[in-house]
This record gives sequence, C-alpha cells and structure tokens, in this order.
Amino acid sequence: MSAIHLRNLVKRFGDFTALQPMDLDIADGEFMALLGPSGCGKSTTMNMIAGMEEPSEGRILFGERDMAGVPMGGRGVGFVFQNYAIFTHMTVRQNLSYGLRMTGKPAAEIERRVGSIAELLQLSPMLDRKADRLSVNILQRVAIGRSAIMEPAIFLLDEPLSNVDAAFRAVMRTELKQLQREFRQTMVYVTHDQLEAMTMADRIAVMDHGVLQQVGTPLEVYNHPANVFVARFIGAPGMNLLPGRLADSDRGAVVDLGPLGASARLPDQLAAAARASSGELLYGFRPEETTIVKDAPGLALAVTFVERIGARTIVHFDAGSESVKAVFDNDVDLTIGASAIVSPNADSVRLFDAATGAAIGRA
Ligand code: ATP
Repeated sequence: MSAIHLRNLVKRFGDFTALQPMDLDIADGEFMALLGPSGCGKSTTMNMIAGMEEPSEGRILFGERDMAGVPMGGRGVGFVFQNYAIFTHMTVRQNLSYGLRMTGKPAAEIERRVGSIAELLQLSPMLDRKADRLSVNILQRVAIGRSAIMEPAIFLLDEPLSNVDAAFRAVMRTELKQLQREFRQTMVYVTHDQLEAMTMADRIAVMDHGVLQQVGTPLEVYNHPANVFVARFIGAPGMNLLPGRLADSDRGAVVDLGPLGASARLPDQLAAAARASSGELLYGFRPEETTIVKDAPGLALAVTFVERIGARTIVHFDAGSESVKAVFDNDVDLTIGASAIVSPNADSVRLFDAATGAAIGRA
C-alpha cells in the first residue's frame, strides 16, 4: 500500500521550528499538493517523506510501515526537483532508460516502457537527441519521465515547474495529471503556485509558517477557507475581508461595517454561529462573487484602480483602511474615481472571528 501517514511530525533546525506538529493522511493513489508561501515548511515536509531529512519528532508511515531509519533508497519513492537532474552527455532515450537498465530489466521491457513514457510526455520525436541540446522545458520533461518510468508507488515532486516558462507550465499541468491517472501513484507535489495546486491536486494541504492550515479539495479550500490565511492565500485576488461587528437590524442579523454601513442580512445559520463568537468579525466575500447594483443595498465604494486582464477586469475599491477587489467581465464600465454599489452575492459571504482568524459556521 502506498498511503502516506504523517503523525505528529515536527522538524526543528537548532532553535528554529520549521514544522509544527503535523498530521496528514494521503490516500493510496491520491494527488496531494503541499501549498504555501516561501519558507512555510513544504520542502522540509517533503524531504522527511523522502528520507532526506530526519524528523525531530513524530512518525511517517507508508501504509502500515514505519519509515523511521529507512534510508531514501529503501523507500520506493521517485522524485523530481525544481532543478532537473539529468545526464547531459546521454540521449533522451538513455536518460529515460537509465534506472531500468540499472535494475537489469530485459531490453524488450525497457524499450516498451521508454516508448510509452516518451509518448505520454511528448518526447518520442527527440529520443535520440543528446540532452545537452535541449531546452530547459524539455529537460524538465525528461527528468519527470526518468523518475516516472520507474513506476514508483510514491512520486514526490518539489516545485518541478518553477523554472519552465509559463506556456509550458500550462501544458505540463495537464501532462502531470495524466501521468498520475495512468500510473495511479500516490503523488505529493510541493508548490507555492495555487493554480498548479488547484488544477492538479485531489486535495491541497495549505501551510503557513510551519503550520498546516487546512486540508481539503481545491473547491473546499476555495469555497470554505478554514481561516483568514487560507481565505487570502487562495484565490487571485484573495478573499475580501472587512472588519465589522455582529448587529441586529430590522432586516435581521447583519454585520455593521462601520463607515461602510451594514451588510445584507446574514443567513440564519451563519448569524447563529456568529452570535456564539466574540462578535468582532471579518466579513469575507470573493472578488468573483460580487455584483454592481443600482438602488439596492450594498457597499457604496469609490473605484481606485481598474486592472484589465483580458477576459476579466479586476476593479479595486477604497474601503477605508481596507481595499475591496471585485472581478467582472471585461465590459464593465467603471473608471477611477467613479462610485458604485458593490453587493456581495448572499451565498458567498463568509465570516471569520477577528480575534482568532478562524472561520465561523463550519466545523
Ligand atoms: P521554499 O519554497 O522557499 O523552499 P518551503 O515552504 O519549501 O519554502 P522550507 O524549505 O521547508 O520552506 O523551509 C522552511 C523553513 O525552514 C525556512 O524558514 C527555512 O529557512 C528553514 N530551513 C530549511 N532547511 C533548513 C536547514 N537545513 N537549516 C536551517 N533552517 C532551515
């Protein structure tokens, strides 16, 4: 079995704790992304799974098997790192077949497996090219192929696409997902790029400052962030978060947003959960979940910036100490200095406890 279980895993470097106690279960055949900003402990976690770093505390299990003391070579994992590690004096074919040749596989099997991995990674036309003649993009493809061809039960990838160009990265996102579907490995993928995590992973483990913040499917972390860190980190732009207090109005429970006025009526369940909190709230809504309204309740805001990004337009609004961003189709007719009434779509409103940062109303 190639499920991975992290139990109370801790890593310290001297006095510095790079990873706070972390529990994580990665199912057999699951694609798990470790996502977070630079320095959050993603690579440290991955290196411990790989056997390159010893945990300071806690356990790592592959299925039922405790990995304590098991060297890297004995773990049956494949790796790909940011910097491709391939033999430049060899051809693509020699690179791809290297591991299989070392383990003494029959020539016919090697040829079959090289053919199929080359096909999957679009390397077939260049199998006999020397690696030192290839672009960085292709070299990283060869590096992925060289590891994947061994069909490891666990495949670990640490920022494998960060050195390749943007267009190629988009292609590789699809290919890596296909590769994993084909071989059904358990895949752990370290990235700081939420697009990579959102598009490829079955589930995402979001990390910050050595602390696991939330584990969930891409839609769970986007729709129901567990705390304000995840709310801001996931989404481009991240969630709008406005400080306010729970208040009663003739419409029912609302959030008093100070100079911005009162929010729309809160759904009953959310209001009930908010009553059980300290009452100091952050009122959250996604930039993609806003509508400009006329003669209807909403937040009256002035436009400070208009960012045209092709199909969509991001409009920035002045909201006192905060700024609010909203994403519209590109035919939106707003210019800097204009005023608009911005209405968060009712179902998309999320509340957070301002003191703890934790989401309100979800377990
Ligand atoms: P990045 O994407 O920048 O690599 P990361 O999330 O992978 O970020 P890690 O490389 O896991 O982060 O590092 C987590 C923290 O541990 C960082 O503050 C880093 O400086 C520190 N760290 C990592 N390795 C060591 C080491 N060998 N000695 C001391 N500190 C370390």
